Amino acid sequence: MVPPAEEGCGLPQDTPPRPLVGSHHAARPQHDDAGDATGALTLALNEAPGRTSPGLRASGGPPPHPREEPVTTADHRRLGRDLDLFDTDPLIGAGLPFWLPDGATVRHTLEEYVRGLEREAGYVHVYSPALGKRALYEKSGHWAHYRDGMFPPLDDGGDQLVLRPSLCPHHALLYRSRGRSHRELPLRVAELGDMYRHEPSGSLGGLTRVRAIRLNDAHIFCTPDQVVDETADALDLIGRAHRALGITPLRHRLSLPGPGGKYAGEAATWERATGLLVSALEQAGLDWEEGPGEAAFYGPKIDVQIADPAGRESTLSTVQVDLHQPERFDLHYTGPDGARHRPVMVHRSVIGSIERVVAHLIEVHQGAFPAWLAPLQTIALPVTPDQEAAAAHLADRARRRGLRADTAPAGTGALGARIRTHRLVPYQAVIGAREAAQDTVAVRLRDGRRLPPLPAEEFLDRAAALTAAHTTDLWDE
Ligand SMILES: [Zn+2]
Repeated sequence: MVPPAEEGCGLPQDTPPRPLVGSHHAARPQHDDAGDATGALTLALNEAPGRTSPGLRASGGPPPHPREEPVTTADHRRLGRDLDLFDTDPLIGAGLPFWLPDGATVRHTLEEYVRGLEREAGYVHVYSPALGKRALYEKSGHWAHYRDGMFPPLDDGGDQLVLRPSLCPHHALLYRSRGRSHRELPLRVAELGDMYRHEPSGSLGGLTRVRAIRLNDAHIFCTPDQVVDETADALDLIGRAHRALGITPLRHRLSLPGPGGKYAGEAATWERATGLLVSALEQAGLDWEEGPGEAAFYGPKIDVQIADPAGRESTLSTVQVDLHQPERFDLHYTGPDGARHRPVMVHRSVIGSIERVVAHLIEVHQGAFPAWLAPLQTIALPVTPDQEAAAAHLADRARRRGLRADTAPAGTGALGARIRTHRLVPYQAVIGAREAAQDTVAVRLRDGRRLPPLPAEEFLDRAAALTAAHTTDLWDE
């Protein structure tokens, strides 16, 4: 009895990653720099940043250690450690990663971005607990269809509590918590919530096969004639988020039931739900391929597939039409005719689980996240100790504009070495004697471009505007 590849709004996990080979860091050459920023920067840049630490090169740089398999350096587990983003400890357990400060910054920024996107699109946000009674999952159908993927229940006197394998049942009860009118629909309920999977311990690793999952989830409760528009809008939202994140989907998959799977409901209901998804794909102007056997147990879905650098495919984002759970939970709304009607539940996830999307972002960008997502966005680099006050002042003003900024004091190494240390920071603002006197900066962008000297205020305004716009562009010229 194999559970479906997917349940709830959750996402299937990919195949176990290949083993890592040993890490390597080349020694960083040192040299002295002096004078104004422009001259110092030229000196410093004679050694191309990115060549000394293979795991940390920026996108577009030369491939590190060509004899090694690409998956090794691209693997998010290794980069995640090298970049101090996340880690695991056997005492916490396999598949239960913890997020280090820089990783937590990326995660927080991502979560806030998605909440903002959803607010703009008319969603409301809720919180619901990660535990529920076993009876809740019996009612939803998870207990019958997805029990193998759930942790054993916890005894609670006469009751049993279950770590939830999806958020859907909680949201169905939230909808049901009071009477609903057709005037409230579509009701778009979103939550970045935790859920749990009882994955086999031998298959766990990194952020792609985990037991604790933070899901960007939402359920749209709507009338049957709102389903196509809501689904097409969700697909549009997914496209917008992918563009902001620099993610290129592999394909859109219409995931349908397959032979031998355990599915809930009648064939006619499945056909109706599939028809609605096809209409939404057509309305959104997207091409798709059918994926038999990839449906959720309660309905068909549209999966947005991605591939990692090794070519392994997985689902990142999803939109599902569910005619089954509204029935199970006896959901209804009062229509314009005063009678009770059954709503449809559209399950959707824009960026999938935080774990999977961050793993993917680490790999596709090789740690060089879009500027708005970078743990540190601006580094102020004084050429000599004389400019440290000016550098600190710049970083302070950057932080007041909402940028994540720091200084790399002259005492911590030669300018070239400090730039290499911070080569993934989108904006590297070098301040020499002339810049300090004139309140200007010589900015080096992470991709190697050097901007003409700019007034510090102009640089800060433009960098703050670009990051607030959630663009993948480093600079607007
Ligand atoms: Zn759901």
